[in-house]
Amino acid sequence: MTLNELSTAAQSFPLTPTFPVLFLGHGSPMNAIEENSFVASFRALGKELPHPKAVLCISAHWYIKGTKVCQVAHPETIHDFYGFPKSLFDVQYPAPGSPSLAKETQLLLAPLVQASLTDDWGLDHGAWSVLKHVFPHADVPVVQLSIDYSLPPEKHFEIGKQLKALRQRGILIVGSGNIVHNLGLVDFARINDEGYGFDWAVEARAKTNQWLMSGDMDALIHYQKQGPALQLAAPTPEHYLPLLYVLGAADKKESLTLFNDKLLAGSLSMTSVKIG
Ligand code: ZN
Repeated sequence: MTLNELSTAAQSFPLTPTFPVLFLGHGSPMNAIEENSFVASFRALGKELPHPKAVLCISAHWYIKGTKVCQVAHPETIHDFYGFPKSLFDVQYPAPGSPSLAKETQLLLAPLVQASLTDDWGLDHGAWSVLKHVFPHADVPVVQLSIDYSLPPEKHFEIGKQLKALRQRGILIVGSGNIVHNLGLVDFARINDEGYGFDWAVEARAKTNQWLMSGDMDALIHYQKQGPALQLAAPTPEHYLPLLYVLGAADKKESLTLFNDKLLAGSLSMTSVKIG
């Protein structure tokens, strides 16, 4: 990083009190347009949060080879799903991007990973389906950071640590995924059945909540080694990993609260986390 780049970043993002960091369980894309207790919580959260200068979002739905940061000034609303009603494809979330935050993120990560800036993304539904409720006026710039599928879980935690400094620059870091997310086992007959979880999902939720509340980062990072319930909860990593970015960006001493902490449709959880 050159001195010039450093001073540019400092001008764009002056020091602020430390912002909270969030993991939002996004669930079905239909949450973007349906009314339920989950989206009501997202709206309430938006009202209590300090107004950020920008959001840096790590979404389960940008899971690719390499760490990329989307630098576009006007991100497209990406409808990255199939088989949903037209009304969902009609949703636009016109939040601006922030090329300066994208650059700042790249510089911040440089000691750890070579992140590349790209124009080739926008806002996927992991980002807009939840941010639409938190910031309904789409007046907070949003930048997405990809999840590199070639990295082990501990590296994602480390990247989160590296991003922590943004929290004192007016940036709200948001991870969007689901801690329990096994689409192959979803009970579609009970898709909206809040509180309904298979035995293994009940166990996975109880364990992860306990690790979150007690600050057991080791167990949370090495979730794949915690037995069959966790393996069933996260059969693929992409919906779980945003949680590790959020935990990495947090301090162990900070207060942690769970909300939307419910199982759904047998094999999903909407558990969301606010730290700080
Ligand atoms: Zn998803």
